[in-house]
Amino acid sequence: MKQSPAHHKSLLNFVDNKLHDLERKSRRRSLKTSARSTGMRTKCDNQDLISFTDNDYLGLSTHPEVINASIKATKTYGVGAGASRLVSGNHPLYDRLEKKIASFKQCEAAIIFGSGYMANIGIIPALMASSDLIIADELVHTCIRSGMALSNATCHFFKHNDTVHAKQLLETYRSHFQKAMIIVDGVYSMDGDIAPLKELGVLSQMFDAWLMNDDAHALGTIGGGRGSAIATKAHDLVPLQMGTLSKAIGAYGGYLAGPKPVIELMKSRARSLIYTTGLPPGTIAAAIKAIEIIESEPRRVERPLQLAQKFAKDLNLPAPDSPIVPVFIGKERPTLLAAEALARQGFQVTAIRPPTVPVGTSRLRFTFSATHLDSDVDNLITACLNLNLGNPSREQ
Ligand SMILES: *Cc1c(COP(=O)(O)O)cnc(C)c1O
Repeated sequence: MKQSPAHHKSLLNFVDNKLHDLERKSRRRSLKTSARSTGMRTKCDNQDLISFTDNDYLGLSTHPEVINASIKATKTYGVGAGASRLVSGNHPLYDRLEKKIASFKQCEAAIIFGSGYMANIGIIPALMASSDLIIADELVHTCIRSGMALSNATCHFFKHNDTVHAKQLLETYRSHFQKAMIIVDGVYSMDGDIAPLKELGVLSQMFDAWLMNDDAHALGTIGGGRGSAIATKAHDLVPLQMGTLSKAIGAYGGYLAGPKPVIELMKSRARSLIYTTGLPPGTIAAAIKAIEIIESEPRRVERPLQLAQKFAKDLNLPAPDSPIVPVFIGKERPTLLAAEALARQGFQVTAIRPPTVPVGTSRLRFTFSATHLDSDVDNLITACLNLNLGNPSREQ
């Protein structure tokens, strides 16, 4: 291999030290090749596994009708969008999908971003600035934190799902700022629990703070698939409903659904919408078909949560609110070893470690999909019990 020039030395020194440090803490990450197919089957580094780690909660990423819709759109409109949506990349499928999302979410309007990450880093700075206050749950997704940082607003975090603490922060700080916003995940990605949107909605009214939920893991999984605001009967209290097309929808992209003027403002102010190329037409077509399937198959939406509940019950874990079930282990190394042990038995499960989750809360994160067979879940339960995962001593 070619030797690096001497003037790269400080760069390579820095990187080597960093990698060594991550290795030592069992926090170094690596990419594994996963060739996914239907029924949550995957070939991961040449091993056949059943995935309990995907966010493809409804199995729609490999659904034949979704695939066909994507192929058809690709043949009609080409592989790429060609330019930003504001230039010439706004192909006709965008309008159809935005109308579909708005009606599915029971909102006035919706707008599609390149991904959920891009949505959050676009929406928040489009609405908030340095004279403003943002209060967020301490466990919000990292892309919300990125969006908050980009907005230059003053940010405070409340203890997870603690509305008393949220209220204290608003009482202390609200009056010092012009606008205010409260941001939460609808379903927490690494914990699977649901935000108390009704209580937060009341606070948002009391303190004139706009409530935003990130429904990345809630769309297609709770509230009849319509997400956390519907599930918690707080729909009218949440004007900013963000989410992704990359999880239960099975495709790729992000969205904001809400009042029409808010959606209009995004087209002029959200930088991650304006200064990036539109999504591939095939991706948008897939999302449209996926939402049609969700609307016509309520059973598909119910199944992931039911499977998660069965798994949790048999492992003596608390009853889950969503198809995400964390099994807490604590330290990084044993969590990795547990994931490896499950892989040897044919199951793909990810060890979630800091900085994704707080130090000391490393965990296995199990997710359930409508396309898992009952026997897949039964076999997983047996494997987990054999590894002493779960909570055998907890009272039923
Ligand atoms: C996955 C996720 C995102 C990012 O969505 P992408 O479409 O994958 O970029 C945003 N927020 C939460 C809570 C997520 O879990």
